[in-house]
Amino acid sequence: MKYDKNNIFAKILRGEIPCKKIYENQYVLSFYDINPQRKIHALIIPKGEYIDLDDFSSNASEKEISELIKGITTVAKKLGISIDEGKGYRALANIGEHGGQEVPHLHFHLFGGEKVGRMVN
Ligand code: AMP
Repeated sequence: MKYDKNNIFAKILRGEIPCKKIYENQYVLSFYDINPQRKIHALIIPKGEYIDLDDFSSNASEKEISELIKGITTVAKKLGISIDEGKGYRALANIGEHGGQEVPHLHFHLFGGEKVGRMVN
C-alpha cells in the first residue's frame, strides 16, 4: 500500500488544517484527538510518512523510532498522566483494517485522566 499524502494527519503536518497542539519536535507532533474517548485523549504521530506501525518498524530510522517512543512519555508527562506525574495511561496503536485504523498515518492514542477501563470491548 502506498502512503496517502492527503490523509488528515498529513494535512495537519503540512499546516493545512489546524490541531490543538500538545508537543512538537523535529520528529513527532502531538495533538488532542478531535473526538475524545476518555477525559484525556491525545495523539502522537511521527513527522515522516508512515502508514502504520509495521511500515514504521520496517522503514523508519532508529532515531525516528526512538523519538516516537520517547515522545509518548514526554507527552504523558506534559499531560500529567505519566507514572511520574500522575496515575498512568494507555498508549494504543490501531493497525490496519482488523485493528480498526481509520487514518492511514501511524499514530499512537494516549488515553488517561481517569481509569481507562477494559482493553477491548
Ligand atoms: P484510528 O481509528 O486509530 O485511525 O484513530 C483515528 C483518530 O483520529 C480518531 O480517534 C479520530 O477522532 C481522530 N481524528 C480524526 N480527525 C482528526 C483531526 N482533524 N484532529 C484530531 N484528531 C482527529
